[in-house]
Amino acid sequence: MPGTNPRELGLLADCESCFGLCCVALPFSASADFATDKDAGQPCHNLRDDFRCSIHQQLRQRGFPGCTVYDCFGAGQKVSQVTFEARSWREAPGTARQMYAVFPVMRQLHELLWYLAEALTLEPATPIHPELRHTLEETERLTREGAHVLEKLDVAAHRADVNALLLRTSELVRAGREGKDRRGADLIGAKLKGAGLRAANLRGAYLIGADLRGADLRQADLIGADLRGADLAGADLTGAFFLTQAQLNAAKGDAATLLPASLTHPAHWADPRTAPGPDARSRPGRASRTPRRR
Ligand code: SF4
Repeated sequence: MPGTNPRELGLLADCESCFGLCCVALPFSASADFATDKDAGQPCHNLRDDFRCSIHQQLRQRGFPGCTVYDCFGAGQKVSQVTFEARSWREAPGTARQMYAVFPVMRQLHELLWYLAEALTLEPATPIHPELRHTLEETERLTREGAHVLEKLDVAAHRADVNALLLRTSELVRAGREGKDRRGADLIGAKLKGAGLRAANLRGAYLIGADLRGADLRQADLIGADLRGADLAGADLTGAFFLTQAQLNAAKGDAATLLPASLTHPAHWADPRTAPGPDARSRPGRASRTPRRR
């Protein structure tokens, strides 16, 4: 039976064990986040033959901040080492198409595992822990299916089922606190300095470039909230849940920002020169890219 520890579940990205899948399988467009365009399935010109990034130490300075804020949740190494049994797309070019198709599916499954594992640590959600546990086990089982199954998996349907459970989790955690409901709200560039957003529902909210300095975000549900370029300096996110390190990496903040215990202050918060900019509208989609290797 899988536990709830992200490391034990294999949800921490291990670029050393991956065939650079996020640098090949995913597309990106020239924007504030990426210096160039790249089609899906085309290796990034910065990807070396050993699957490492040639500009890893200068990603932000070289115009690729988007690469520093993506998290595959361990999907890259799972596809590389488990699904395709450690044979890379360079060694077996005939598997490349399928590998690139499986990667985003696996990434979604691993992201769901991440949230389910966190939900199982939230005490107010205890009444639905059996359902959460069952769904986590089923999701974990799916990640071990063969490439031909994963490639055709209706991951959107599975995601919808999991999301219903995560919504119930959110309601249980925020119960009795009368937090604001800003689910999916367009709060791009919003002036929310010092705002009272305790226990708010900010699921999928667009907070790109928002001024959240000093805001009270305790026990807020931040699943999928787009925090690119948002300023969290001095904000209190104690107990905020379904918040990922990648979301924080895309935001700005400072030493006074209070975070949930499982998350850390991104290195760039100490150096404003490398902070992400607020202009992320130029890039379609909300998935960004990865903190890749040395
Ligand atoms: S981390 Fe970014 S710049 Fe580096 S190889 Fe991957 S996609 Fe290219």
